[in-house]
Amino acid sequence: MINRRRFLLSSLAASFGISLPVHVKSANLRQAFREGPGAPLIISTWKHGLPANRAAFDSLSAGGSVLDAVEAGVRISEGDPAVTSVGYGGWPDAGGEVTLDACIMDRDGNAGSVACLKHIKHPVSVARRVMEKTPHVMLVGEGALQFAEKEGFCRENLLTPQAKEVWEKWKRESAAGTVTGHDTIGMITMDSSAELAGACTTSGLGFKMQGRVGDSPIIGAGLFIDNEIGGAAATGHGELVMKTLGSFLIVELMRNGMQPEDACREALERILQKIHIQPNQQVGFIAVDKSGTAGGFSLRDGFEYALLREGENKLIKASFLL
Ligand code: ASP
Repeated sequence: MINRRRFLLSSLAASFGISLPVHVKSANLRQAFREGPGAPLIISTWKHGLPANRAAFDSLSAGGSVLDAVEAGVRISEGDPAVTSVGYGGWPDAGGEVTLDACIMDRDGNAGSVACLKHIKHPVSVARRVMEKTPHVMLVGEGALQFAEKEGFCRENLLTPQAKEVWEKWKRESAAGTVTGHDTIGMITMDSSAELAGACTTSGLGFKMQGRVGDSPIIGAGLFIDNEIGGAAATGHGELVMKTLGSFLIVELMRNGMQPEDACREALERILQKIHIQPNQQVGFIAVDKSGTAGGFSLRDGFEYALLREGENKLIKASFLL
């Protein structure tokens, strides 16, 4: 099975304290890929990743591409009003408006993204259209909405009565500027031929400043896929992830031979080294490498990720730094 493959040469070299040149490490990852098809592997952030993983798996089983699978997976969280951090039912910004951020990236390095998109329930699907139908990577705000409508997406009210109630309570009781941590869904999928794709979608921090965009739609911050090496995705306080380009960093660390979990940990260490963090700030990363090794790590206690492989879909509590 592909997930049992390890980077033998890297491990051997590491045990002798030798650092391999980057091209040798990349070659090892490509070798792992060439060893043949294994079982699909799907990893996503938080508990709502469990049904999302299942939907991604079903899409692959029905013959969908790895890109179809990540899109189908995260659409489950986007459409679920009980998930108050993504899509429909997401908590609004300080002005009471639900604004959504999402991105998607395929095995060929193509990427699409939308930010501060209002009224459209499935921003990940709009992000895919940006990738496939425009010469651009990112559309924001009114322009993203106009594009979505031109593509046939319908305007909907995304603010559920429950989310409105929470926002009204926040307005009555909380100091201006207080934001609430949220649970973005980031997903990386590897199909049985070890092809990778990823997606990330969120309503952002609850009660954020109007116009605020976080890490989730930023390629390299909230998500990064390099089909030769692996993929990574982020959740938590986007400002910390944006300042360190966390997902890109993790993929580059894996390119240099680090295991996914160690790479996630290293990216969190980088945040601590470079940024003065606030006591309530959390970041969680997930990552997969081309050999089918997957892992996650967080800044603080409480982060979980969902991992589906070989028919088992389970929630894993991540180790944490602080
Ligand atoms: N990363 C998201 C953002 O900053 C929120 C989260 O995942 O908690 O918008």
